[in-house]
Amino acid sequence: MKPKLVRTVAALRRETAKWRAEGLRYAVVPTMGAIHSGHTQLVTEGLKRADRVITTIFVNPKQFAAHEDLGKYPRDEDGDVRKLGKAGTHLIFSPAPDEVYPPGFSTTISLAGPAKAGLEDKFRPLFFDGVATVVAKLFTQTGADIAMFGEKDYQQLQVVTRMAKDLDIAIEVIGVPTVRETDGLAKSSRNVYLSKTERQQAVAIYRNLQNAAERIRSGVNPQSATRSATRTLMALGFKVDYVTARNAQSLSIPQNRDEPLRLIAAAWLGKTRLIDNIPV
Ligand code: AMP
Repeated sequence: MKPKLVRTVAALRRETAKWRAEGLRYAVVPTMGAIHSGHTQLVTEGLKRADRVITTIFVNPKQFAAHEDLGKYPRDEDGDVRKLGKAGTHLIFSPAPDEVYPPGFSTTISLAGPAKAGLEDKFRPLFFDGVATVVAKLFTQTGADIAMFGEKDYQQLQVVTRMAKDLDIAIEVIGVPTVRETDGLAKSSRNVYLSKTERQQAVAIYRNLQNAAERIRSGVNPQSATRSATRTLMALGFKVDYVTARNAQSLSIPQNRDEPLRLIAAAWLGKTRLIDNIPV
């Protein structure tokens, strides 16, 4: 079925009002487009929990720094609509930047807690304020009952969960496990930037996280396991921003042995920045 495409908040609200009148429950899947099977998995999981699914497509300028890839971020709305329709999305909200940030727009959400864990925030200082601001707007614009986010962006998932709770937005944020290529590389819209050789090397991040997790489970100290994963990745030519073991919810540095742990990594391969994470 071809999903309906709306570009304004007014048109979006006309559609959701009909669903509400019928007593339907609906999910929102926020994306920046360049849809792949990681995104469609969020739609599939949304359909299991709600009667209708809205996918939003918006390349949010507020979460890109001046030197980042906003201008060359992959865009293919026709392809996205086709893929999202096949996955079962009922409605697509794809606004222009002016619809989201009209002249005079002056509000940004300022974050603490998991947003200041010293991970993505350390390397992309404006990123989460931009993400939280647009996601809060999408939550209130759609009025959805549930929101689907990928574990692939693990810190983002914790930040958005915390933000919705702190701002009393009546939405349940649900995390969906990372969808991977057959060799294990996490699916990402940015994987198209990788050269053929880089694409073959890229899976080393996941492999090294797996290896570190296994060593931690067998009793090795998390810090030494992540340090040796960092060294291996550097020797393979990665520029490593971080490989670290964190508390799976607060993202703080673990203090005792029985905390649930998440291994989280970010590294550059050539001009492409890759992120990944796994549970221990
Ligand atoms: P993006 O368009 O890259 O901002 O991603 C939109 C949503 O899809 C976010 O919640 C991401 O975490 C999620 N996502 C991206 N890649 C994957 C993946 N490989 N597996 C699961 N979710 C993903």
